[in-house]
Amino acid sequence: MEVATTIDAIRTQRAALTGKVGLVATMGALHTGHRWLVEQAKAENDTVIVTIFVNPTQFGPNEDFAAYPRNLSNDLDVLEAAGAGVVFTPTPEMMYPPDYQTYIEVGSVAEGLEGGQRPGHFRGVATVVSKLFNLTQPHTTYFGQKDAQQVAVIRRMAYDLNFPLEIVICPTMREPDGLAMSSRNAYLNAQQRAAAPVLHHALQAAGELYEQGQRQPEHLRQVMRAILNQQPIAQPDYVSAADAQTLRELTSETEQPILLSLAVKVGGTRLIDNLLLPLHLNTRAGLSETLGNPSYTVSPI
Ligand code: AMP
Repeated sequence: MEVATTIDAIRTQRAALTGKVGLVATMGALHTGHRWLVEQAKAENDTVIVTIFVNPTQFGPNEDFAAYPRNLSNDLDVLEAAGAGVVFTPTPEMMYPPDYQTYIEVGSVAEGLEGGQRPGHFRGVATVVSKLFNLTQPHTTYFGQKDAQQVAVIRRMAYDLNFPLEIVICPTMREPDGLAMSSRNAYLNAQQRAAAPVLHHALQAAGELYEQGQRQPEHLRQVMRAILNQQPIAQPDYVSAADAQTLRELTSETEQPILLSLAVKVGGTRLIDNLLLPLHLNTRAGLSETLGNPSYTVSPI
């Protein structure tokens, strides 16, 4: 496994690769969910490039950029074992030199949910991901359902800006009690950790109701809110039942796929989770086809 620490180094490494290249972009502090993305990429490509970069432009001024967990030596061990070929670990100064001036803004799909709560977040995500696409020129990129709106934003950007790559969405990996794996789970103390699966429970309850025929989005939101209310240390930022293509909040019944999503503060830690309806769509194929408009689909090179 090669480690490229500069822009020049990743360009040189990429130029030397032949065959299919898969990309997994991460912020490090890797867990089993990340590892699983790398393993899938490895099974389907000749070389997997993994990027580890805590991207300052996607964090708001009062967010956890400085505190975000960093553990490079463990991450490199995980990636070596998972079969990564090249790891790119730039610094913020390399990605955003002092005279940096160019940003990418995606429209309505980036505006609600996380975009509504975290102004500028998706501008930072779209900018860094487009830079990583340019530097690593992957045939296929692997993203997690955990960040469902991020995938919708990146699919839209890839289509609009003609990035010649395929985007694969992998289902959320969970702890045995249902908590979605996340680098931020490391912030939770024992009491908060015990409360954190409430996000999953709320999504599951609304999902079951949907499967029993409930199509009123406000009912689905109410069920999620009621379950979250049972945990006093869980403070919702938003509870959403949105159209899975546009991510607009639903106000009336629909037979189109619905994205249930939550952002909840548990103690000082902000957790997110989501579930696609109908439930059978929460597979790699279902997610990859549904999240984002299928007409956005871009052909691999
Ligand atoms: P991050 O390091 O949090 O930026 O995540 C890097 C990639 O891993 C993103 O595409 C995430 O959606 C994905 N990811 C994070 N957590 C999980 C999880 N629990 N299951 C599957 N993918 C995940």
